[in-house]
Amino acid sequence: MSAMLPEYSLNRRRFLTSLLAGSAVLAFGELALPRPARAAGASGPFTLPPLPYPDNALSPTISANTIGFHYGKHHQGYVNNLNQLVAGTSLADQSLEAVIKASVGSVEKTAVFNNAAQIWNHTFYWNSLRPKGGGKPTGPLAELIEKSFGNFDQFKIEFAKAATGQFGSGWAWLVKDGDKLAVTKTGNADTPIVHGQKPLLTIDVWEHAYYLDYQNRRADYVAAVLDNLINWEFAAQNLAA
Ligand code: MN
Repeated sequence: MSAMLPEYSLNRRRFLTSLLAGSAVLAFGELALPRPARAAGASGPFTLPPLPYPDNALSPTISANTIGFHYGKHHQGYVNNLNQLVAGTSLADQSLEAVIKASVGSVEKTAVFNNAAQIWNHTFYWNSLRPKGGGKPTGPLAELIEKSFGNFDQFKIEFAKAATGQFGSGWAWLVKDGDKLAVTKTGNADTPIVHGQKPLLTIDVWEHAYYLDYQNRRADYVAAVLDNLINWEFAAQNLAA
């Protein structure tokens, strides 16, 4: 596949083609994200990608109740907002990544950027988690973590520090930056894809990601996600892509 960007604005013909292709997950250019689907009742060019597992599959680390609000209300809300914002504009025909890159840094397009980037970040987050995840990476990813952080335990310390240290709403990321991996944090909707970095994994540290299950204990949420849910296969796919 060419270096195309993740594409959410499928038209009907391409959507039918994707159904015929049959696979739930494809590598979209650089990043392995789920194939978009047009949800029932969706209106507008952008759609909520399917959750890659049932809403109770991450329990007890993340409850079905949290997933219900986070995916069903917050993530869907960003999709609905973006569809309203781009209606009748040239952005309605663009891919989600193109909309993000066309709106970043624009005062007039702040709402477009925030909602588009949040759609992208959340899809990436759901794929950064999996039932019975956690553990350690293997192969080239494990070697690059050792080269970049010294050892895996040091990576975990730095990742947890970024996730708990992000002031207010935002995200912690493992990214490929040049020849090495790095841990970063971004505020609100900000995303590494507008900073020349290739994201491998993320943890959402907005309060809506953990407050129902952990209240104010963000550090407990981050530690539990790293130990039980983080999807090292997804990170390895992103590194190899
Ligand atoms: Mn969120």
